[in-house]
Amino acid sequence: MAYEFADEVTDEVAARLREAGLRATRPRLAVTWALRAMAGHHTADEVHAYLVKHDVTPSRMSVYNSLVALADVGLVRRADVGRGATVYERADTWHHHFVCGRCGQVSDVSCVVGDKPCLTPLEDVGLIDEAQVLFRGTCRRCLDADATSGDPR
Ligand SMILES: [Zn+2]
Ligand SMILES: [Zn+2]
Repeated sequence: MAYEFADEVTDEVAARLREAGLRATRPRLAVTWALRAMAGHHTADEVHAYLVKHDVTPSRMSVYNSLVALADVGLVRRADVGRGATVYERADTWHHHFVCGRCGQVSDVSCVVGDKPCLTPLEDVGLIDEAQVLFRGTCRRCLDADATSGDPR
């Protein structure tokens, strides 16, 4: 499985990296491949573990640095989901997140406005690029589990 990512993403991602002023390093390509392959939201550690499992072995630090660099230029989406956790996902349509306080599941929530920056602050703080909205609560699956188990939580 080693370096299988190269064929799939190299050309397109390398071009987009160069457009964004970044060199197409192997860790950056690998990280992009991993996020596409895994789908969903993952921490830097999970991305690193996935790559190691597939015999791609960049250091933890290079995975982290790659995610930060890719997120900074918009090729990867970064979301802060509380409890000190930052998750990454492949960049597609702009959306927000819902985090379940019980099971920790992170779900996508459509942006009601449809596009960044979604919200405008009352204060003139400067130029707003985006507003990340984090919904917290109990997810449907946990609610359904309560209903079937009769657990009165
Ligand atoms: Zn839940
Ligand atoms: Zn998301």
